[in-house]
Amino acid sequence: MTNDIEDRFLTDWSGLTRGRPAELHRPATAAEVAAIVADCHRQGRKITIQGGLTGLAGGAVPADGDVVINLERMNQIEEIDDLEGVMVVQAGATLEQVQSAAADAGWFFPVDLGARGSCQVGGNAATNAGGERVLRYGTMRDSVLGLEAVLADGTVLESLTRLVKNSAGLDPRFLFIGSEGTLGIITRLVLKLQPPPGPTVAAIAALPDMVAVAKLLRHLKQTLGGMLHAYEFMSQRFVEMSASLSGVRNPVDPQSPWAVLIEARGVQGQTVDEQLQAALEGAFEAELISDCAVASSLSDVESFWRLRQSIPELLTHLKPTVNFDCGLALKQIPDFVERVEAVLKSRFPNAEHLFFGHLGDNNLHLVTGPHAEQDKHTVDELVYRELQGHHGTISAEHGVGFIKKPFLEMTRNPAQIALLRTLKQALDPKQTLNPGRVLD
Ligand code: FAD
Repeated sequence: MTNDIEDRFLTDWSGLTRGRPAELHRPATAAEVAAIVADCHRQGRKITIQGGLTGLAGGAVPADGDVVINLERMNQIEEIDDLEGVMVVQAGATLEQVQSAAADAGWFFPVDLGARGSCQVGGNAATNAGGERVLRYGTMRDSVLGLEAVLADGTVLESLTRLVKNSAGLDPRFLFIGSEGTLGIITRLVLKLQPPPGPTVAAIAALPDMVAVAKLLRHLKQTLGGMLHAYEFMSQRFVEMSASLSGVRNPVDPQSPWAVLIEARGVQGQTVDEQLQAALEGAFEAELISDCAVASSLSDVESFWRLRQSIPELLTHLKPTVNFDCGLALKQIPDFVERVEAVLKSRFPNAEHLFFGHLGDNNLHLVTGPHAEQDKHTVDELVYRELQGHHGTISAEHGVGFIKKPFLEMTRNPAQIALLRTLKQALDPKQTLNPGRVLD
């Protein structure tokens, strides 16, 4: 434990700050976490839980006087069951560490996102992280078979099952995945590994309009099936800025309003170049795409992904930004983008409004900035107002934390909110764990 707390523990990638915590703990085992939590529970102290601090919703940001529990020392890969393709890991291991350990054992861990080098699998589970392979493998929820969590009174709830099916009552893991540390501290995970896929083939296609973006996805799903691994969409302005900040050349027609990065992979040892080529030719014939560049080497594939993943550079360049990760039915997305772009351009003509995202799983990101601090709430309201009433979500993957809390009721109905409150009250009546996140 230390009271001399470095600045890096005071904020996450959202840039939010709330004050100076009283203590920082970096435990190495679940038993140590449990002892700290039990003490805090007895004394009525408030805990902020920290993973890799790459969150964009401010959930891991401590307030004045908080006790911080940071899991970075709990980073052991405890077991890889090579027969079943299962990994048991401490929650503080980074996503990249888990991916490499799986690869070294001849398996593949499919959850992947730009922050892989710093974010932790516990944080990924707490936020139900999505990322770039959701289209093929689902979110973090689909890759967790079991977990261990420390409850608000210090009880260690062990549910480290590695069974794919278990209908003997409610499955406790679903209480903690996506609960953003409000119901328990995840200390250990049982992860489902996948057989390694074959070599990556990738293309960037230019599209004439947003409707074509949605129709191309349907076409690729129908022609490539399970080979379609990623479908990442980017506005022309996003590609232009990303190219200039990353030094990567835009390989397609810069006049086209939208571009998508397509990745396809077969099973191990199988290349799917021909299948992707055929699917793209079909898309040309159907006038869904107007230009296309297919990667001819691994370095091309990496450059394509650099264009899509230059978010840290964009966030730094446009700061202070307001960031969105909305979710919406595919058929509603073109209209939503048009309305949001119009309203933001008319209200904030000097700011950049960049649309991109994992469109294959209904997830649309928007980075807009720079914005003066006093305008940020207005920006949020303008965007979320367009989302309201369409059965969408204000967060498809980043979580609610503090930053999106004022808007939760715009896409969650009163019965859902009441259920969340009942669960919090039942599991943490003294508001020990991550108080004030998600709900007041
Ligand atoms: P933190 O930021 O430390 O915490 C996030 C929340 O989880 C907080 O509320 C915290 O209290 C809680 N928490 C953390 N660890 C635990 C635990 N062990 N038990 C209980 N609660 C815990 N997200 C996506 O989903 N998809 C993306 O594609 C994506 N891309 C990103 C790209 C960049 C460049 C950046 C900076 C972020 C991106 N994110 C993305 C957001 C972020 O990386 C994810 O939300 C990630 O899952 C957070 O993990 P973390 O360990 O950093 O958690």
